[in-house]
Amino acid sequence: MANHTKGRIKKLAGIAATIFVFIIIALAVYNKRPSETKYTRLLMGTVVEITLVGGDETGLTSAADAAFDEMQRLEHLLSRYRDDSDVARINRAAGKEAAVVSKETMDVIEASLKVSQYSHGAFDITMGVLGNLWHFTADDRGAMTPPPQQEAAKLLPLIDYHRIIIDKKNSTVKLARPGMKIDLGGIAKGYIVGRAVDVLKRHGIKKGIVHAGGDMVVFQEPDDEPWLIGIQDPRNKDRLIGTIKAYNTAISTSGDYERFFIKDGVRYHHIMDPSTGFPANKCRGVTIVAKDSTMADALSTAIFVLGPDDGMKLIEKLPDAQGLIIDANGRITVSAGLKGKVIFLKQ
Ligand code: ADP
Ligand code: MG
Repeated sequence: MANHTKGRIKKLAGIAATIFVFIIIALAVYNKRPSETKYTRLLMGTVVEITLVGGDETGLTSAADAAFDEMQRLEHLLSRYRDDSDVARINRAAGKEAAVVSKETMDVIEASLKVSQYSHGAFDITMGVLGNLWHFTADDRGAMTPPPQQEAAKLLPLIDYHRIIIDKKNSTVKLARPGMKIDLGGIAKGYIVGRAVDVLKRHGIKKGIVHAGGDMVVFQEPDDEPWLIGIQDPRNKDRLIGTIKAYNTAISTSGDYERFFIKDGVRYHHIMDPSTGFPANKCRGVTIVAKDSTMADALSTAIFVLGPDDGMKLIEKLPDAQGLIIDANGRITVSAGLKGKVIFLKQ
């Protein structure tokens, strides 16, 4: 009996020791992984998420707050939905006079003109006039119908980025024809996410991610591991097609699956072909990796419109852009510089 009890105690002691060792290992592993702190705020019609690594909580929170505040300030300048934004003032003065704008607005408009030139007008912020015709929301999808083709055709003469007249010396922007409208929806989020990262870095943050509805910037220190960023399957939101190894870079995705409706079997979404006034139909999704977040955002929209052939040609021409294109049939192509950085998951 005594021997039996002794045996049990030994056994229990053994189990306890094993558990103890496991806890030590688990704690060691846990301590090695620097903690990630996440902050979210509703901005720019989407959930903006800031992920920060390391640091003390008070410092991280004030850095994240400052970054969110900067994003909100910039949204107020660049949104077409706010009457007092620079964009709204430019649009109201169309065909009449030049509007004085902030440096930030000027920078975004200049960048957008650059991408218009690269893409021969596939990216064109004067597509804003189509906002009179098309409305996309995440809900109420069933109730929507596309506008008649001739209504869209009537607006096409107002879509022409050559008729945006900028005067940098006097900080003014003028739209040459009455009725013209600009919409920075395809570029502003990328710009704003980039400025948020500048704020975080000024607050001493060394590693993190700022993500706003498909536009993100990741940053880290030279000896850090790359971030692994998932690429969503455009036809199954619960599935990734793969991940991209990302290191101090911007990643932007444009897709036909966030804001859309389906009518009579046709999918209508928010990325417009400026030559037709109807949604571009050559792609399901485009992901661009580029150093500059403003460029990444605008290029993802531009290349979505251009389609896989002309789109990939443009990516390969630009020294600082890489990309992954999913065409209208689901076929995936990857630019030369991104090969080896994409890890595809089994289909
Ligand atoms: P998301 O806004 O979902 O991140 P995008 O970056 O592709 O996706 O931007 C889509 C937005 O860009 C549209 O909602 C519209 O405001 C604007 N846009 C749509 N088509 C074009 C285009 N051809 N050129 C410039 N901007 C566009
Ligand atoms: Mg874009």
